[in-house]
Amino acid sequence: MALAHNLGFPRIGRDRELKKALEAFWAGDLEQEELLQAGRQLRARHWQLQGEAGLSLVPVGDFAWYDQVLTHSLMVGAVPERFATDVEPDLDTLFHMARGVSRTGKQTFACEMTKWFDTNYHYLVPEFTRGQKFSLQWTQLFEEVDEAIALGHLVKPVVLGPLSYLWLGKTKGEVFDKLELLDTLLPVYVEIFNRLAEQGVEWVQIDEPALVLDLPADWKAAYESVYNRLQYAPLKKLLTSYFGGLEDNLGLACSLPVDGLHVDLVRAPEQLPYVLDRLPTYKVLSVGVVNGRNIWRCDLNATLDILRQVQERWGDRLWVAPSCSLLHSPVDLQREDRLDDELRSWLAFATQKVGEVALLARALVSPEDDDIRLALAESTVVQRARQSSRRIHDPAVGERLTRVRTQHSQRATPYVTRATLQQQLLALPAWPTTTIGSFPQTSEIRASRQAYKQGRIDRKDYTADMRAEIAHVIHAQEALGLDVLVHGEAERNDMVEYFGEQLAGYAFSRFGWVQSYGSRCVKPPIIYGDISRPAPMTVEWARYAQSLTDKPVKGMLTGPVTMLMWSFPREDVSRELSARQLALAIRDEVADLERAGISIIQIDEPAFREGLPLRGADQARYLQWAAKVFRLSASGVADTTQIHTHMCYSEFNGILDSIADMDADVITIETSRSDMELLEAFSGYAYPNAIGPGVYDIHSPRIPEVAEVVRLLRKAARVIPVERLWVNPDCGLKTRAWPETQAALAAMVEAARQLREGD
Ligand code: GLN
Ligand code: ZN
Repeated sequence: MALAHNLGFPRIGRDRELKKALEAFWAGDLEQEELLQAGRQLRARHWQLQGEAGLSLVPVGDFAWYDQVLTHSLMVGAVPERFATDVEPDLDTLFHMARGVSRTGKQTFACEMTKWFDTNYHYLVPEFTRGQKFSLQWTQLFEEVDEAIALGHLVKPVVLGPLSYLWLGKTKGEVFDKLELLDTLLPVYVEIFNRLAEQGVEWVQIDEPALVLDLPADWKAAYESVYNRLQYAPLKKLLTSYFGGLEDNLGLACSLPVDGLHVDLVRAPEQLPYVLDRLPTYKVLSVGVVNGRNIWRCDLNATLDILRQVQERWGDRLWVAPSCSLLHSPVDLQREDRLDDELRSWLAFATQKVGEVALLARALVSPEDDDIRLALAESTVVQRARQSSRRIHDPAVGERLTRVRTQHSQRATPYVTRATLQQQLLALPAWPTTTIGSFPQTSEIRASRQAYKQGRIDRKDYTADMRAEIAHVIHAQEALGLDVLVHGEAERNDMVEYFGEQLAGYAFSRFGWVQSYGSRCVKPPIIYGDISRPAPMTVEWARYAQSLTDKPVKGMLTGPVTMLMWSFPREDVSRELSARQLALAIRDEVADLERAGISIIQIDEPAFREGLPLRGADQARYLQWAAKVFRLSASGVADTTQIHTHMCYSEFNGILDSIADMDADVITIETSRSDMELLEAFSGYAYPNAIGPGVYDIHSPRIPEVAEVVRLLRKAARVIPVERLWVNPDCGLKTRAWPETQAALAAMVEAARQLREGD
């Protein structure tokens, strides 16, 4: 019989119990023993629900106090020097590495954090030094295995594979070939596997997501030698690939001396025939058929058809699984009490997905069982209902898209012409100063928003509160002497949610939290249908702000690509299509802002880079449509209207072409922490439009010195002509307090003044 298993379950808890326990522990309000207890309870609950759902093997090692890659670094003894102590690493070491506290209790820089493949999860980047030694240190995995066995579960420990682990890390000090480290790393893996075998483990899951990337030849070769060297470990090895297709690594992955291979058939269904051809039939084939990264219910009948094909060839060696770890799904749909029945009937969170996996495996052997027939019939009904639902399909949106022409995604004149016309209208000084949009979100603002949402104050009082805040922000900016003002974004809790709530085609869960990093979770909105904008979303706030000042007020919108990337997307249409619909909705808002007298409009795209696919060949396609979609949202304006965009990261390598292709009149970016170094990339490339390189870091309360800002701007002027330079912070100011905000902006404005006057 086909076996049902899971690659990993979300650890955060259906009520974010882990987040709450961690934060209480860090604040000193929870004892370590209580924290450990909270972790044990969550693991026990998650194993139990997976066992009860009908999984034959439950994953162990998917739990982490902060991040699974960090746990792995501790396990293999990869603790950077600044955190190392004489004793073995413990929970303190782990949190120090994550949060930047040195072994002596001083503040130091934390381990770097970066995106886990193309998900919105972030892992802590391992740091490797040349000649580094590894040794088995942190034993959490073995303890959890014992814990699960004691609770009566059949377990499958999850271990990050050696090559993916090295791939994800960075070299420190001397630059060297990370593959050199294998000689000392592999013995630790052998030790881990031996120990698991002694604990009675039959199968270990070795995660090698790097197999879905474009790998250099020496890394491919290393896969062969590594798994040859590990093949004698006394347990069975299931090698897992996910987040994409194996493509050119398929032959390699199929031939490695392991006992089973997991492939992602949600992201890459087209690879199945090749896997069936290449994988020896004595190996287990685990197929990921339930999407681990989204919230839609699986089409059970269609999936079952595929599984039957595989079963014909693979028989009992077919395993059924989610495409990847369920870490990227919210925990439990049962918790959602405010979603309407129709929408709810389309959804499945991690708990429900586990049920789907178990049901599919069972349906292969006993399709006639009553509950299975019922479930399959219900799935048919749900899929049909969704396909034809009026809520999803809005003919007007489809019709409008067919009328979109190339010229809709192009400004009428080239940048140089526009820039001159805009300058005639705006008459801005050299070194124009501005901010990225948000001003401090005080507790009063939050309280007012909350009260309005809960119906404790009415629209009139709420509007009065927000207007008072806008007036305050405008006056503060005038007093500071900024050139281009913003309204401050007081009415927004979140830059995607705020717009999603006003667009048709969007829904919001109450408890659909997904871990982003450490204790931080995000609750992505759900794009369920065709998107349109029933009414203006920001115009009244912007109009009011502009009425208070003679200086230009910059309208502030979230761009189509970011809206998409930070939401759960549809699966019945392409990401590109939803993005184009979003672009038209935003285009309408841009037009209305322009009509309301707003002559500068910023369309934020901080997630532009996040959409980048993992493989080079797909990246080019993505970049092309993403830039075009941005232009579609931005190009409906007169030449004299100035379009800004903002991105808050500093990695533009390889994507500068498309940044230029977006053709925003001004782009503001994060640069202060890189000491303007990243601007070099823009200069080498001869970026054609204007740039506002961030002159101070908004992540810390530190107030920059005027001289320091002047120095950074002079440095910027060496690579970008002064006529195309703007002066602004790295990002929005919503997490900062007022006093430091005012002091920092005062320094920034003074720096611009000195540069203008050539002091
Ligand atoms: N306009 C937004 C703000 O200032 C931009 C946020 C972001 O880049 N993530 O808050
Ligand atoms: Zn930003």
